[in-house]
Amino acid sequence: MAEIIDGKKVASEIKAELMQEVKELKEKNIVPQLALLLVGNDPASEIYVNNKHKFCNEIGVISIIERQPDNISEAKILEIIGKWNTDKNINGILVQLPLPKHINETKIILSINPSKDVDGFHPENIGRLVAGLPCYIPCTPQGIYELLKRYNIDTVGKHIVVVGRSNIVGKPIANLLVQKMPNANGIVTVCHSAAKNISDYTKTADIIIAAVGVPELIKKDDIKAGAVIIDVGINRITDSSVPKGSRIVGDVDYNNVIEKVSAITPVPGGVGPMTIAMLIKNTIRAAKKEVY
Ligand code: NDP
Repeated sequence: MAEIIDGKKVASEIKAELMQEVKELKEKNIVPQLALLLVGNDPASEIYVNNKHKFCNEIGVISIIERQPDNISEAKILEIIGKWNTDKNINGILVQLPLPKHINETKIILSINPSKDVDGFHPENIGRLVAGLPCYIPCTPQGIYELLKRYNIDTVGKHIVVVGRSNIVGKPIANLLVQKMPNANGIVTVCHSAAKNISDYTKTADIIIAAVGVPELIKKDDIKAGAVIIDVGINRITDSSVPKGSRIVGDVDYNNVIEKVSAITPVPGGVGPMTIAMLIKNTIRAAKKEVY
């Protein structure tokens, strides 16, 4: 029987741990503070930012949301970040992506002080991750690492196949799990759209991390018996049999692979809930000056 890796449960355990850390910091007169920039009114971004704000409120981290219209100039965003970079009370800065087309996202990410880059997207933090130095690890990869660790899934010397090479999931998780450190030290292969047949790679994997964005791409025949599956994908598909007319699925054909795997993350309720928990963890680390 496959073990279901319950991200919702682990995220709520982490939330309780973080609440305790915040309490201890407050006794030293330190109150972690996160600044969130939300540009425009994309409904998904609105939900993500509100969820981050709510998580902060629940555990005693101060969070401020700066809302700006879609037509904001790049200069104005740089001005806001510049102000936050030098504000001693702000420990973490998050710019909700995607930004409108006329804004150069890379330029904005580069403008964030790396010591406040709690999303871990600044090349300074990415470089430190690759070099095995203290850094802010991007939140979704860090969430995957925590899930593997807390479910005692052995990664040492295991063949880990990452499908997807984005800067926010694929590349950082591959770089994290290849590090010579506890709960990592894997033999990592990264697949992407240039792979002629991803099955050639996924079939040899002890652990598959799917971060593709293609609904149920990875099928039962693409995996070996006993593999561990971490499904990062969040894809909405139409389904007339449900009242809403659509539902969320991952990048893995969950209902069919489940009989073949040893452990698997569900979608929703697997990797997703871990991401916000790791963002707030990074903010608390920033307040403790653990990295810089
Ligand atoms: P991107 O679109 O940035 O990257 C997708 C990657 O998958 C690319 O590297 C692409 O290759 C590769 N790819 C696409 N099609 C194939 C294919 N048929 N075979 C092999 N590789 C393929 O996506 P993200 O990394 O941002 O997100 C991936 C998924 O994870 C999405 O569903 C997203 O919603 C979800 N997600 C979930 C999060 C969570 O908290 N749970 C957080 C972030 C993302 P190439 O580089 O060649 O284009």
